[in-house]
Amino acid sequence: MHDRRQIIRAAIAAPLACALPGWARAATPPTDDVAMARFIAGLPKAEFHVHLEGTLEAEMKFALAKRNNLSLPYADVEAMKRSYIYHDLPSFLKIYYDGMQVLLTEQDFYDLAYGYLSKAASQNVLYAEMFFDPQEHLKRGVPIEAVIGGITRARADAAKTLGIQSQLILCFMRDLSAASAMEALDAALPYKDKLVGVGLDSDEKGNPPEKFAEHFAKARAAGLHVTMHCDVNQENTLGNIRTALVDLKAERIDHGGNIVQSPELVALAKSLGIPFTVCPTFSGKVMDDGQPINALREMLDAGLKVSVNSDDPAYMGSEYITEVLVRAQKDSALTPAELVRIERNAFETAWIPAEQRDGYLARLDAYAQSWDLTA
Ligand SMILES: [Zn+2]
Repeated sequence: MHDRRQIIRAAIAAPLACALPGWARAATPPTDDVAMARFIAGLPKAEFHVHLEGTLEAEMKFALAKRNNLSLPYADVEAMKRSYIYHDLPSFLKIYYDGMQVLLTEQDFYDLAYGYLSKAASQNVLYAEMFFDPQEHLKRGVPIEAVIGGITRARADAAKTLGIQSQLILCFMRDLSAASAMEALDAALPYKDKLVGVGLDSDEKGNPPEKFAEHFAKARAAGLHVTMHCDVNQENTLGNIRTALVDLKAERIDHGGNIVQSPELVALAKSLGIPFTVCPTFSGKVMDDGQPINALREMLDAGLKVSVNSDDPAYMGSEYITEVLVRAQKDSALTPAELVRIERNAFETAWIPAEQRDGYLARLDAYAQSWDLTA
């Protein structure tokens, strides 16, 4: 008798369902945990909310520290992982930014990005738009060309070797000064052909989106797309979502789960066709009158264009998008058709040419049909 969790883990690790011969595939939609795990593993996916620095696994930190002749204040990987204890966003960010100090050279950024893209490709992510935080690297004296250069080289190699396409989003760190964010933008603009957009991350408390109005305008004028984090349960959270949508004309919202508390903002976001990148591991629990509500479920039921993403997987139990979707499926009672819809939302709202989008949607449709689901 096999342990049920072992079977599910094996199913996740198994070759992609779409690679199986027709006779071996399920002819009906998944109805139990094992089939559901296999269905999720094989689902063609896109990811838009993943911080590259948040994919820096403890093992890689040790390898990069050794290569760069740095010493880490932990005896080994396990001791480092045991230190990943946080109770709120600031305590998480402290651990997160400390971890980045091993990233120094172009090769380090290559290894970081290639590591994520390999993992994502192994989970059938066809396309990713990845965040990075240049201010944190610039202030340590790492030149922007090393950061963008290493990531860009990894993107090209991963596309060629693994078949995964990707683009890059520069994030402003909202808890640093507006001047520091502008310096990072100015440093990166000569490389704007390597970027697809700008975003806004880090600690929202006391740092509303309008602090970066000038930055977003400048980036937009340079031809870049605009997204921004609206973290859950922040002060003036609905006001910040409104500012992002109305005043700053954000094209996408990262997290944004509190929107379900405002029917007016839900209607506005739907009328604008705004996608939301939900990370259930981090942003799923919206508090409403002291009670947690399932933001993913409510956003889907409200008809918002929601995708599911992994955020900072190296700091969240090394759960990448497949594991996040398996968990979300259980927590939010997602049906197979809803899982297909989530990936359809993602491909439909990716910042890519129509031809590329059509190719992804055709693969998603074929996959859904192979499970007897109408896409
Ligand atoms: Zn994030």
